[in-house]
Amino acid sequence: MTVQARCSTPVGQTVPGAALSLGGADRAARGVHPFSLVDMQARTVEYLRVSVTDRCNYRCTYCMPAEGAQLVPRPELLDFDEIATLVRVFVSLGVRKVRLTGGEPLVRRDIVRLVDQLANIAGIDDLSMTTNGHLLAELAAPLRKAGLQRLNVSLDTLDPGKFARVTRQGSLDAVVRGLEAAQAAGFVHTKINTVALRGLNDDELLSLCDFAADRGLVLRLIEYMPIGVDQFWGPDTYLPVADIRALLAAGWDLAPVERTHLPGGGPARHWIGRSRAQPSRTVHLGFIAAVSEKFCRLCNRVRLSSTGTLRECLSAAGTLSLRDMLRGGASNADLKAAIHAALHGKVDAHRFDGAVHTREPMSAIGG
Ligand code: SAM
Ligand code: SF4
Repeated sequence: MTVQARCSTPVGQTVPGAALSLGGADRAARGVHPFSLVDMQARTVEYLRVSVTDRCNYRCTYCMPAEGAQLVPRPELLDFDEIATLVRVFVSLGVRKVRLTGGEPLVRRDIVRLVDQLANIAGIDDLSMTTNGHLLAELAAPLRKAGLQRLNVSLDTLDPGKFARVTRQGSLDAVVRGLEAAQAAGFVHTKINTVALRGLNDDELLSLCDFAADRGLVLRLIEYMPIGVDQFWGPDTYLPVADIRALLAAGWDLAPVERTHLPGGGPARHWIGRSRAQPSRTVHLGFIAAVSEKFCRLCNRVRLSSTGTLRECLSAAGTLSLRDMLRGGASNADLKAAIHAALHGKVDAHRFDGAVHTREPMSAIGG
């Protein structure tokens, strides 16, 4: 198997460029994994997001077209052994955190078996999943038993009517039961992912804080990104983090947290909210200012699509098919070299701010 022409850097060999040219001794001195993935901006990649399917049981307005996204034929999806092989390769390159996403990861048949397979890979410190929570009531306990460590559950509104409207076919009741089942199964540090949407949930941010505070959940407020379904993104829907904080300040005193005990890391800014009415009551908040405050400097991640394409940046379509390499008989060394070379081309920052708009739906990218 010949590695594609652009992927010509053998593992461990130095390549031109600031951080990639660090020698083994330099890396060790800096506490960096000897074969770690370091890009041209000296950002170390230690976090892999794996989309396990492009299918979803919801049709969120900001993520998918109403009729659903165009699905890839099943044989094109990575099978579990292929996912595990690629995850092992990334772990050998220094990846320590693996998150399963989708589409909706819980609609992938036998997802618990995949979790079990990945949980047995030595070197993963943090195995997590982002889910819409619809099937969590029945799957939380088996997932926990299989070795899943953490959950992010998406929840944009506590109003059943709005929930049905924004997800097009979801059930708020099912998601709340899923969150309860997760807690009962022993998941801790569970995060709620809320996309802040002007005109949908800007009047509910205080209630969402209460919901999270009551249950000891972390509330992550995510700026709506101009990805995929472009007819909705714009001044009528986009709510910058500064406005989100201003809305929250009506009920909570907010203070940034420099260091957090929470696992996960990455670009979220952590804050603590203290209830104005009841100062002993707190809520842990994470703000993801993807558009207004560009977190790219802190980017520590790459994405693997459900068809095995490496996506180096959320806003740039990936071109390296690790699935085709695998199916063509590539060795681990070939795969590592190709990944290193692809990382060399990781852009310095996303490109959401101009007219450029990522056309693929977020469901295909995995968030
Ligand atoms: N189906 C799962 C879920 O909804 O949690 C996992 C996949 S979903 C694409 C991952 C995350 O991306 C969700 O929290 C979702 O709210 C978020 N998301 C989707 N489209 C988005 C957009 N345009 N801007 C910001 N976040 C988005
Ligand atoms: Fe499905 Fe998640 Fe996208 Fe909603 S955000 S349509 S649940 S993939």
